Amino acid sequence: MKFEDLNLDPSLLKAVADQNYTEPTAIQAQAIPLILKNNDVLGTAQTGTGKTAAFALPILHHLVNEKTHNNGRKKIRALIVTPTRELAIQIAENFTDYSKYNGIKNTVIFGGVKQMKQVKRLEAGVDVLVATPGRLLDLMGQGYISLKDVGYFVLDEADRMLDMGFIHDIKKLLEKLPKQRQSLFFSATLPDSILKLSNTILHNPKKVAVHQVSTTAETIQQSIYYTNKHDKNDLLLHILKDKKIEQILLFSRTKRGADKIVKRLSKQNIKAAAIHGDKSQPQRQKALQSFKNYDIRVLVATDIAARGIDIDKLTYVLNYDIPNEPETYVHRIGRCGRAGEDGVSLSICEPEENVYARDIEKLIKKQIKEVKGHPFPQTDKPMNAKEKKEFEKEKNRKKQEFFANRKKKRNAAGGNNNRNNRR
Ligand code: AMP
Repeated sequence: MKFEDLNLDPSLLKAVADQNYTEPTAIQAQAIPLILKNNDVLGTAQTGTGKTAAFALPILHHLVNEKTHNNGRKKIRALIVTPTRELAIQIAENFTDYSKYNGIKNTVIFGGVKQMKQVKRLEAGVDVLVATPGRLLDLMGQGYISLKDVGYFVLDEADRMLDMGFIHDIKKLLEKLPKQRQSLFFSATLPDSILKLSNTILHNPKKVAVHQVSTTAETIQQSIYYTNKHDKNDLLLHILKDKKIEQILLFSRTKRGADKIVKRLSKQNIKAAAIHGDKSQPQRQKALQSFKNYDIRVLVATDIAARGIDIDKLTYVLNYDIPNEPETYVHRIGRCGRAGEDGVSLSICEPEENVYARDIEKLIKKQIKEVKGHPFPQTDKPMNAKEKKEFEKEKNRKKQEFFANRKKKRNAAGGNNNRNNRR
C-alpha cells in the first residue's frame, strides 16, 4: 500500500514525502481509512509503530477540509491528551511536520514549566492542542482554554495514563468535552480497566491492533551479558569501547542508579546525561536535545521517563539491569529499531536477575543470545526461582525491620520530647 492510496489531502501527502516515509506502517494502513470515515477507534499499539501519524494525518485531513469561518482567531478543534511531557512535545512536533503545507496550527502544553509562554501561544489561536492532563485542567480552570469546539479527541497511551494516576483528571476532562465528537483511544495493552475507560469515551469503536506486547520487533538483535553485580560498571565500560556504538540509550531501574551511572561515565570522559522524574522539565529537554544533537553519547533513562521518547534512528539500547516485569523489557527495547530501522539491544544480567531473564524469554518466546567470552563472566552463584523468592522475602523482611526500628527510635525520641514539653 502507498500513502497515495489513502485519499489523504495533497498537502499531507507532500509533507509525508518530505519525511521520507515510503509506505504506511501497519497501524497507519489500518487506522487511517477508519478515521477518515469518521469512526471512533480503539487502537492497541505501542510507541514506535507509527501510531502518531496514524491519528495525526486523518485528523489533519478533516481539519483542512472542514469549512471554518475565517473571521476571528482559530479555535481548538482537535485535542490530543498524552501522559508525559516528552511524548506531548514529540506529538506536537509531528503535527508541525505534517501541517507544513496547510496552515493548521498546533501548540503543546505541559506542566513543570512556567505557563506564560504556553498561554500566549494559546491566545494567538490554535487548531490542535496537545496536552498532558494536569496542565490542561489547570489552564482550563483559569479560563485560557475552551474545549467547546473540539470535534476530534485523542487519548494516547491510556494504560500509562492510568498507571500514572490520571484517571480523575481524565474523568473531569470528559465532562467538559462536547458530546458530538470523534474519539480515538490508543493503548499498548488492553486490560479490563482500560476497556472500561474506553467504553466511557468511544461510541461504536472500530478496533485496530498491532504488536502485542509479547512480540519484539523482528529488526532488533538482542543479546545478553551474564556478569556479577560488582562487575557491571566495568562491563559497561568494556561494552562502550566498541566504536560502532555511536550512541546508546541506557535504562536504569532507579533514578539514583541513573545518576550514579552518569557520574561514573563522566569520570571516564564518556559524555552522558540522565533523564528521570527528579529532573526538571528544562533539564530533561536539554538532555534529550543534546542526545539528538550527538553532543552526548549515552542517555541514561528510567522507564517512565523513557516511555514515549522518540529518537530518530536509535540503534542501540542497553538494559543496565533486567526489569522484573518482562513487559518492561519489551517496552525498553522498542526504543530502537523503529519503523523498519535496524536495532541492537544489549542487556547486562547479574546472578539475582537470571530468573527475570528467563521470564522475558518466556514472554517473547525466544532465547536472548548470550555474549560469551567477555572479560567479566558470571561467577557468583545464580539463584533459581525459589531462591530468588526467598531472597526477595528476606530483603523485604529486613527492609520492614529497618523501618520498624527507625519508627521505634523516632517514637522514643518524640516521646522524650513530649515529656520535655510537658515539663
Ligand atoms: P510513533 O510510533 O508515532 O512514535 O513513530 C515512530 C517513528 O516512526 C517516528 O520517528 C516517525 O517519524 C516514524 N514513522 C512514522 N510513520 C512512518 C512511516 N510510514 N514510515 C517510516 N517511518 C515512519
